Amino acid sequence: MTGKIIRGVGGFYYVRAEDGYVYECRARGIFRLEKVTPLAGDDVVIEVSDETDREGSIQEILPRRNALIRPPAANVDQALVIFALSSPDPNFPLLDRFLILMRREQIPALICFNKTDLTDEEECQRIAEAYRGCGCRVFFMSLKEGEGREEVRDCLQGKTTVLAGPSGVGKSSFTNWLCPEAEMEVGAVSRKNRRGKQTTRHTELLRIGEDTYLLDTPGFSSLFVNDLTPEEAREMYPEFEALADQCRFQGCMHMAEPGCAVKEAVAAGRVSAMRYDSYCQLIRELRDVRRF
Ligand code: GDP
Ligand code: ZN
Repeated sequence: MTGKIIRGVGGFYYVRAEDGYVYECRARGIFRLEKVTPLAGDDVVIEVSDETDREGSIQEILPRRNALIRPPAANVDQALVIFALSSPDPNFPLLDRFLILMRREQIPALICFNKTDLTDEEECQRIAEAYRGCGCRVFFMSLKEGEGREEVRDCLQGKTTVLAGPSGVGKSSFTNWLCPEAEMEVGAVSRKNRRGKQTTRHTELLRIGEDTYLLDTPGFSSLFVNDLTPEEAREMYPEFEALADQCRFQGCMHMAEPGCAVKEAVAAGRVSAMRYDSYCQLIRELRDVRRF
């Protein structure tokens, strides 16, 4: 029988099989020998050993379309990164790093700003404008007021989507709305931390519809992309790439060089200063890392 791994905990894998039931499975020893770790999202062949207790073993991992290291997951179609417009205030450099991470893995990302009820229309416009050239679709919603959420949900249909974003932005609220059975804990950030929720939570694949899965990952607060070279980082900003052939120097890093088309576009307001600042910050960090 085939199925999909929805969760892996302490050597056990929970496989939602084609018969609709979830089986608790062990992986065959051969995977360990071959240093293959089954991942949430893997399509697998299982052999059922106990029909009543729904136990079995994973016999085979079917070919993967892709595999992510962080979060550990296979066969991911896209990422949905949620930030709040306020409470907590958006950390745009962090958002940009997340986009870089996904771009490197060639996983399309959707950006969703939640809590429109806490800000005004002009602020949303300003942000939409800043991310216009980033290569990702941008959504705005208020889960509190039920605005804009259907549009985001429709983009998930038939896909496996990694859900990411800092604590407190509304990920659990969104998941609960999509999948009330999942019953994620919604609430104060501090309470979660005190109870060590971050450390005990596991990557879990939630089935939210036919062939539709949401991969819930523990929140992230910082992302390190310092194994990137500055040259690689430059390619992660599509709106700069589009201008690069107009820079005076070939291979322009858009930093201190004269005659830089990107800097001119930023000065003229055609490219977001916010995106450019996060780019400069990243390049400086990457140059620092390589100096040691
Ligand atoms: P998570 O940490 O990302 O899972 O965020 P939660 O879903 O736990 O939400 C954090 C807090 O934000 C909760 O108190 C929610 O009720 C609140 N919240 C979620 N969506 C909205 C929204 O659209 N507007 C407002 N004002 N608050 C929201
Ligand atoms: Zn340039």
